[in-house]
Amino acid sequence: MIDKKYSIAIDGPSGAGKSTLAKAVAADLGIVYVDTGAIYRTIGYYVWKHGIDPKDAEAVTAVLPYIQVDMRYSDDGLQHMMLCGEDVTTQIRLPQISMYASAVSAIPTVRAFLLDMQRDMARRHSVIMDGRDIGTVVLPHADVKIFLTASAEIRAARRMKELEQRGTPCPFEEVLRDIQQRDWADSHRETAPLRQADDAVLVDNGTTNFDESKQLLLRVIKEALAVEK
Ligand code: C5P
Repeated sequence: MIDKKYSIAIDGPSGAGKSTLAKAVAADLGIVYVDTGAIYRTIGYYVWKHGIDPKDAEAVTAVLPYIQVDMRYSDDGLQHMMLCGEDVTTQIRLPQISMYASAVSAIPTVRAFLLDMQRDMARRHSVIMDGRDIGTVVLPHADVKIFLTASAEIRAARRMKELEQRGTPCPFEEVLRDIQQRDWADSHRETAPLRQADDAVLVDNGTTNFDESKQLLLRVIKEALAVEK
């Protein structure tokens, strides 16, 4: 579609469907999908596994030199997270890791530790990268910026269905509470809080299904890249 390397930033709250949609859009455009939440989850998983309080900035900072995080892509385009040589792609999805990821992501040294890794991906490939601060901090010069959101209730209902399908059902109230807590924590932290970049396009996918949302994103992206070209 476009010859030069380009980057697309997708930010938004938990459960807005960023990763599923970004993955599908990446496949359509033939570019690399980078799930930055998975990187924070990998740090969260390490901290959880070692019994460290994820809110203890000093303790978490002290173990960073021992954490080796890597991303690998399998042939089907799936992003695998490697922690000190071990594939932890499945483990980082355990429900308890969400809060650990959210807590460690508020620590400035953790964010600094992971910044280069994320930028490096965009230097080397055309990417669609999703997270909370991609358009504001990680890739402030991204060619396209999208802020994807939906109401907390709609996001909780979707997440509940997803958990059911994975065989780890959870009551609606619990899922909603977790989403609201993470929304609050992500948007009120001092370092790189979740917020819409001034030049991001706001997309609310609360009333659109997966295909409609995907088409909507592709339209926004193609329009933005055509203007750029
Ligand atoms: O996207 P996901 O829910 O997997 O991310 C887990 C947690 O990592 C989020 O709740 C958020 O606190 C944190 N995160 C972040 N910055 C990013 C991506 C994720 O702070 N770019």
